Amino acid sequence: MAYVVTENCIKCKYQDCVDVCPVDCFYEGENFLVINPDECIDCGVCEPECPAEAIMPDSEEAAAPWREINRKYADLWPNISRKGTVPEEASLWNGKPDKARLFSEKPGEGTV
Ligand code: SF4
Ligand code: SF4
Repeated sequence: MAYVVTENCIKCKYQDCVDVCPVDCFYEGENFLVINPDECIDCGVCEPECPAEAIMPDSEEAAAPWREINRKYADLWPNISRKGTVPEEASLWNGKPDKARLFSEKPGEGTV
């Protein structure tokens, strides 16, 4: 089992999750983060840290559409191990419905 990042992370990307992950298994897109399910040790530490409540166990029903997205983009995007700049409009987007259509496939900068 692993944890997955889901829709409400889109355009929020607070990145509080990144700072607490003991195995640095987050990967950064332009407006979203994903968790590599093969690296996640299922510790659950990141889940309560996410202000957008976007992280959940992959066994939850709401996580189903996001499982493959986390797996796919963890292979394509750069690793992020430290919190970077939070988008200015993050709080405006937190909780907005129907954000899945805004998902960007572009990679983020990652932690350099
Ligand atoms: S804390 Fe939540 S909203 Fe922020 S980057 Fe992590 S998963 Fe996304
Ligand atoms: S559950 Fe643990 S290992 Fe998995 S992404 Fe969250 S903090 Fe990292």
